[in-house]
Amino acid sequence: MQFSADQDFAKQLDLEDPLRRFRDEFYLPAGKDGKPLIYFAGNSLGLMPKSAREVVDEELDDWAKLGVDAHLDAKTPWYTYQEPLREPTARIVGAKPAEVICMNSLTVNLHLMMATFYRPTTSRFKILMEDPAFPSDTYAIKTQIRHHKLDPKDALVLASPRNGEFTVRTDDIVDLIEKNRDTLAIVWIAGVNFFTGQLFDMPRITKAAQKHGIIVGFDLAHAAGNVPLSMHDWNVDFAVWCTYKYLNAGPGAVAGAYLHDRHATNTKLPRLAGWFGNDPNTRFKLHLEPEFVPVASADAWQVSNPPIFSMAPLRASLAIFDAAGGMKTTRDKSLKLTGYLEFLLSQLGSKRFTVITPDEPSARGCQLSILAQENPKELFKELLAAGVKCDFREPNVIRVAPTPLYNTFEDVWRFAQILNQHP
Ligand SMILES: *Cc1c(COP(=O)(O)O)cnc(C)c1O
Repeated sequence: MQFSADQDFAKQLDLEDPLRRFRDEFYLPAGKDGKPLIYFAGNSLGLMPKSAREVVDEELDDWAKLGVDAHLDAKTPWYTYQEPLREPTARIVGAKPAEVICMNSLTVNLHLMMATFYRPTTSRFKILMEDPAFPSDTYAIKTQIRHHKLDPKDALVLASPRNGEFTVRTDDIVDLIEKNRDTLAIVWIAGVNFFTGQLFDMPRITKAAQKHGIIVGFDLAHAAGNVPLSMHDWNVDFAVWCTYKYLNAGPGAVAGAYLHDRHATNTKLPRLAGWFGNDPNTRFKLHLEPEFVPVASADAWQVSNPPIFSMAPLRASLAIFDAAGGMKTTRDKSLKLTGYLEFLLSQLGSKRFTVITPDEPSARGCQLSILAQENPKELFKELLAAGVKCDFREPNVIRVAPTPLYNTFEDVWRFAQILNQHP
C-alpha cells in the first residue's frame, strides 16, 4: 500500500475504514485538555467497552434480586457462565469450543498447564523459552523447575537474539530444539513477545518440537485479540492468555486456556483438580463423591466456580470482536494502521528512531517498539505531556500499540507529528 505523510491522507483512511464505527463503542480516556488521549497502551490494558457496564450491572442486579438462586436463574446463569464465553473465545484463538476454557488468571493457568505437561524424567527435563520473556513467565517456569527439585541452570534453555539483533530468529529456535531434541520436555514461547512485538512462527516451532516428542505451549497474552491464531490447526498442545490487553475485558479479568482435544479429552492426564473440573453430573453430590471425575474437555482444568464479575466484561468485549467480523477483519485494519505508523517513522529517519520490531508484517502484531536514540526519557515525557498514552521500557524503548478497534489513522499521524517535534 502507498502511504502519504499528509494529514488529509490519514483522514481519508479513517473515512474509508470499515471498522471506524467501533471507536465509539469504547470509553476513550481524556487528557487535561478534555480531548481523547492517543491511546496506544492497549497492549497493557485495553479500553473499556461501553457495553461492559450494562453486562456487569445485569450481574449485580441478579445478585441483588436472586441471591444464591442466580446460579441457575440469572439471565445468564452463573453456574454455567463459562458457556457464553466459549465459542467467541474459540474463534479468537482458533480452537474447537471444547478445547478452551475461561478461568483464573494467566500465570495461574500456566502453572495448571505445567502441572499436567511438565513431568520431567532423568532424560527429558528441559524447558525452552525465548529471551527476554515476560517476568511472570520466567518466575513461573523457574519455580516449576525447582518444584521438581531441578536447577534452572541445567533445565532452562533460552533462545536469545544474536549479538546486535533485537529479535529471536526462528532458525535459532529450531536449532536449539534440534540440539536439545532428547532432553527438552517443553517448548514455552510467547505468540507475540511483549517487549519487541515479534510475532513468532508458531506453526513452524510447533512442528520442529513435536517431531521429537516435545510438548509445545504458547503464551498468547500479546497475541490473543491482536493477530489471527489457529491453535488447533497448528496442532499446538496448550496455550494460555489474559483478556485485559487486546481483549479489552478489564483489569485482572478472567484468563483463558486452550488444550488440544487429544489432551482435553484425555481424562487420564495428571492435573491439579477442583470441583468445577468435575463431571457436572456428580459435582453436586459434594461430600458423597470423593473421587474426582474429570469432564472430557478443557473444562476439566477449571478448578473453581466462575468469577462472574471478572467474566462479565469479557462477554461484552468478545461481542464487539464478533460484530467487527472477527480477527481477519481486525487484522486487515491492524496491518494498515501499523504499516502507516512504520511508514511515518521511516520518514523521521532511523538515526533518531530505530524500530526494533520486525519490519516483516507477518512477523509482528500491532505493536511497534521504538528505540529512541536521543534523550529517550525526555521524549517519553514529551509524549505524555502531548496526550499520548504509551509505555517506556528501560533504558530506551517506547512501546506503542495502535489497535484496530478504537485507534484511528489520524491518531497515528498525530503521534508521528509529536515525535517529529522532539529535538
Ligand atoms: C501480561 C502478561 C502476563 C501477565 O500475567 P498475569 O498472570 O495476567 O498477571 C504474563 N505473561 C505475559 C507474556 C504477559 O504479556
